[in-house]
Amino acid sequence: MSALKRFELRRDLVTGKWHPTLPKDFQSVHAVEDASYIPRSKDRSQDPYFLEGPNEYSFALCGAKIKVVLAVEFRPVDTQACERCVMELAAINERYATMTKNAEQKRKLAQNYKPVKL
Ligand SMILES: [Zn+2]
Repeated sequence: MSALKRFELRRDLVTGKWHPTLPKDFQSVHAVEDASYIPRSKDRSQDPYFLEGPNEYSFALCGAKIKVVLAVEFRPVDTQACERCVMELAAINERYATMTKNAEQKRKLAQNYKPVKL
């Protein structure tokens, strides 16, 4: 998923309370691998999720501290995509592809295995 390092606090003029909002300038968009821990209700599934306290902060693939998780997938081709996250993601995908290839080779070897008759 896509994620940001910071949010902006804006004051609700009706309630007078401060609440986090998306920054005007995103700067870099980072990648977080697992955002499944975020509780997303169906009707608000497209909302950004703000991690407001140090106990909630997450980390991007590049190691950046994350305070906002967006409800969109990380797109390495985006101009704002963090370069280090792009590289980390490529490395993860490559490792995964190698694992899948190895598993496939093992499966084929096992399939074609014929016991030797002595
Ligand atoms: Zn990053």
